[in-house]
Amino acid sequence: MAARRTTAPTSPARRRRATAVGAAVVLVAGALAGAAPAAAERPGGRGGDPVPAPPAAPGAVGTGGAVATVDPYATQAGLDVLAAGGNAADAAVAAAAVLGVVEPYSAGIGGGGFFLHHDAETGVTTALDGRETAPATYDETTFTDGEGRALPFADVVGSGLSVGAPGTPATWEKAADELGTMPLADLLRPARDLARRGFVVDPTFSAQTAANAERFRVFPETAKVYLPGGEVPQAGDVFRNPGMARAYDELMRDGAAALSDGRMGAAVVRTARNPRTTGKEVYRGELTRADLQAYEVRTPEPVRSDYRGLEVVGMPVPSSGGIAIAETLNLLEAYDGLTGEALPDVAEDAYLHRFAEASATAFADRNRWVGDVEGVPTAELVSQGFADERACGLFDADVAAPRPIPFGSPDGDYACDADAGSTALTRDDHGTTHLTVADASGDVVSYTLTIEQTGGSGITVPGYGFLLNNELTDFNFVPVTAGVPDPNLPGPGKRPRSSMAPTVVLQDGVAVGGLGSPGGATIITTVGQVLTGYVDRDLPVVDAIAAPRISSRNGATTQAEPAITDGPLGAALTARGHRLATSAEIGAATAVRLLPDGRVEAGAETTRRGGGAAGVVDPS
Ligand code: GLU
Repeated sequence: MAARRTTAPTSPARRRRATAVGAAVVLVAGALAGAAPAAAERPGGRGGDPVPAPPAAPGAVGTGGAVATVDPYATQAGLDVLAAGGNAADAAVAAAAVLGVVEPYSAGIGGGGFFLHHDAETGVTTALDGRETAPATYDETTFTDGEGRALPFADVVGSGLSVGAPGTPATWEKAADELGTMPLADLLRPARDLARRGFVVDPTFSAQTAANAERFRVFPETAKVYLPGGEVPQAGDVFRNPGMARAYDELMRDGAAALSDGRMGAAVVRTARNPRTTGKEVYRGELTRADLQAYEVRTPEPVRSDYRGLEVVGMPVPSSGGIAIAETLNLLEAYDGLTGEALPDVAEDAYLHRFAEASATAFADRNRWVGDVEGVPTAELVSQGFADERACGLFDADVAAPRPIPFGSPDGDYACDADAGSTALTRDDHGTTHLTVADASGDVVSYTLTIEQTGGSGITVPGYGFLLNNELTDFNFVPVTAGVPDPNLPGPGKRPRSSMAPTVVLQDGVAVGGLGSPGGATIITTVGQVLTGYVDRDLPVVDAIAAPRISSRNGATTQAEPAITDGPLGAALTARGHRLATSAEIGAATAVRLLPDGRVEAGAETTRRGGGAAGVVDPS
């Protein structure tokens, strides 16, 4: 372990106590919808019957508003709010809060996210930046040892050092207060009740727990909450989280101040600074009460770009999502011009080739230019002139450009030259969750929220049942390329660069769609691909989401799903020089589309991550 303060092992006495308390989390084996035994019948059961899982479908069309999330409980909560007269912001907060309960490894109170809202009446699109912030003590050397070498990534992930000041409670509060119509407490109540009464475990929750069991066992509180009785909850079990119900109670009573000024905040700080372990030494965090109190949801101007007559509105810095998607789309338009053949008219392999070349180029630029720093040249990066310059000389319809593609110079002076240098591949992650909502008046919310990797830091806040994020691992620990300035090094109060890309699509100022996905850096390619799927390939939303994915992020290999790598498409791409690597699944998207006839179409995954849940208030 490098020269950083680490935790002391938990004493055996404390371990024993933790195990005894763990028994309070009741698991009711085999309880499925409709047949769930009452929790009150069982010792330790509290708060009423478990809530049966609502039915889930990957697609829905109708009126009255739509919600698409990865989980039927969350979708139902959003639909209930819409049916009760709430607007899209209200429904998004309610659905997100439920995701904090049923998808606790992807998102929740201990994390952050980006909330993009389009108001149909005013035509204004608002971006809420609820990204986690680094403690005030962080600087460019925080993730290095005494000799300038990066700390081992795996050691930082499961440690207090990776924990940033959470932004999610403040995001929910701001969204409810400024964009919604209902009191925050009403929007959090379904989540609180679900945590208290219990929900039916699905195979994804069970598999994610199993995959993280080893690192969860390092932290007795996490094992107590998420491995009740020492076991991985199985599909069909009922899972209760009374600590998380308490956390929601405090948020319902005090709003985000429960975190900045309340006991919950004190517990977060204590835990991040000194996570209790069963013996393993982990880095201590540096988060303070002052960091929580200094936290602010920012409202930056969204990124806007034109794509085939549509306005694509996305998330600005500290996310690279909106910028990289805009550049990708601009490059695709530039390739149309260079080849004389438009994307909608080319064969599937040519479409995938073009898409991969565009995203790899956008990643070269995103890596070099985007981070939570002053002076990011956003307007130039999303300009058609810059994309035209980048396409010219780099793009070949028959041959993949050698990786890494050099980054360009977004300097406003565009010709057909000017490659500047290279940057390396970025990681992909598999945590996070995205939800999309449209209401009957045409407001749209696209909201991606996260605790970074699945299970976040693995550290649960004692008594509160939620996991702390490990978002600060999204910083680069050391510059990715020696000698090239890196905008994504840690700094005091800084927000790590994200790839999250909640997106709203407008036509003549009116929202016609919204979409997003989890998946770390693959978010950018997933969102771009789903968007081109329905804009250029003419696919219905559910099919655009289901289409096999490719993710080229300027590394030596291009990731693609088996439906591509194992068939003729893979062969055609390989013949063009792409070095493909198979990924079982890329992303887990949701989307809505507002149809010209006044109906709304909601879409979610058919199979990825066990399939998602799309619903409308009035199905037609
Ligand atoms: N922390 C990642 C980001 O902000 C998201 C992680 C994920 O999607 O799994 O880009």
